Amino acid sequence: MDQKEELGLTVKKSEDFNEWYNQIVLKSDMIDYSQVSGCIIFKPNSYAIWEKVQRVFDDKIKRSGHKNCYFPMFIPESLLKKEARHFEGFTPEVAWVTKGGNSELSEKLAIRPTSETVMMESYAKWIRSWRDLPLLLNQWNSVVRWEFKHAKPFLRTREFLWQEGHTAHATKEDAEKEVMQQLFEYVDLIENYMAIPVLAGKKTDKEKFAGADFTTTVEAFMPDGKALQMGTSHMLGQNFSKPFGIKFLDKDEEEKFVWTTSWGLSTRTLGAIVMAHGDDKGLVLPPRIAPLQIVIVPIVFRENKDAITAKAKEIAKKLRAHNFSVELDDRDGYTPGWKFNEWELKGVPLRLEIGPKDLEASQVVAVRRDTNEKAAVKIAELEKKAEQMLNDIQDNLFKKSKEHLAGSIVEAHTFNDFLSIIKNKKMPKALFCGEVECEDNIKDKSEGATCRCIPFEQKPAKGKCVQCGKEAKFWAVFGKGY
Ligand SMILES: [Zn+2]
Repeated sequence: MDQKEELGLTVKKSEDFNEWYNQIVLKSDMIDYSQVSGCIIFKPNSYAIWEKVQRVFDDKIKRSGHKNCYFPMFIPESLLKKEARHFEGFTPEVAWVTKGGNSELSEKLAIRPTSETVMMESYAKWIRSWRDLPLLLNQWNSVVRWEFKHAKPFLRTREFLWQEGHTAHATKEDAEKEVMQQLFEYVDLIENYMAIPVLAGKKTDKEKFAGADFTTTVEAFMPDGKALQMGTSHMLGQNFSKPFGIKFLDKDEEEKFVWTTSWGLSTRTLGAIVMAHGDDKGLVLPPRIAPLQIVIVPIVFRENKDAITAKAKEIAKKLRAHNFSVELDDRDGYTPGWKFNEWELKGVPLRLEIGPKDLEASQVVAVRRDTNEKAAVKIAELEKKAEQMLNDIQDNLFKKSKEHLAGSIVEAHTFNDFLSIIKNKKMPKALFCGEVECEDNIKDKSEGATCRCIPFEQKPAKGKCVQCGKEAKFWAVFGKGY
């Protein structure tokens, strides 16, 4: 077997998407499987992307006054039960601790599936007056939801990493404003950094978060015809503040219950990045989220090795000084071709090659990962050109995905249309009554399609529901989901 075969993907994205995905996450060295089924190991190549996501989003929420904190991962059963719908919604997938060492615990402890309950218990102690509001906290942690379906790296695993924001407000209006503000922070993060266009909207009553008044969502559409929920922001109303007794003395001297929100974005977004941009050679990372933006590969021969390596080092230093993240691959024992394949597999946006002729001409050859285009760039202009090229790559990835999304949403005027759009792996947009029973019927008849969202951008919803014929309330987008 030659080196290339060993390293690269053996299936095409367009031919066997599932297998392509399974290979890419392993071969690009993002993950490994662990002994516990349904759990994955985030290797440095994927964890570094998550760190970038964290940095971008953490800066955003801190600018709007949020603070990070950490709560215990164990939640007593009695606490989890305090909001009935919440408990009912999460209990089928909760993992429990029942023993400490050899002794049975007097009360079993849930490993957090989400932290509303444990945080609200403390909020009830901490919030006394209108001066304590708003309370704007966030946690970066991991949660456990005991999935029984087949695991899929990043998208469906028993433990995943995320951030969960939990806020308390004096008025309903303030809480609703928070819900929308955070949702649109997700839109910015996902579209302008991950280069994935999304649909923003509300979830239906059937799909909303267990215990929420309403849930807002950002949905992306993957090349295999499935929708992927990228982040959600929930208006919890007073559904938690009442059972947990989170009250404050308002300016009018009256005691009132607070209004709460929660919002989360997880490592499943890494799966979306892989799926949306990856190709038959491997990952393609958007420059603004890529841990490594530029790799320099010197093309050396025995007689000119020192001169070329020295120049490559100088270039790396120059680019780092301009805040690019750069690696110089001067490893011995690998051919340049082998290195090209490896960095392509790992999705580095820009590769710079420098050989003897380039050295003579004071230039490098720059190769874009997204288009494979090659261009000779004068070293004197490298910082400026590199920035331009990285911006172009970022824009191009977004543009390609945007075209895909736009072409994937198709209006359905009859239920037959609706079903054939689903069959063609696209997302029908249709008039919908919004009723849970009707949505159940849609799911049965379409082999699993659900309402992905009721987009905020609506045209007048005049007419009948696509499935049941009752008066429609809105246009909604449906699809099969991850
Ligand atoms: Zn209906």
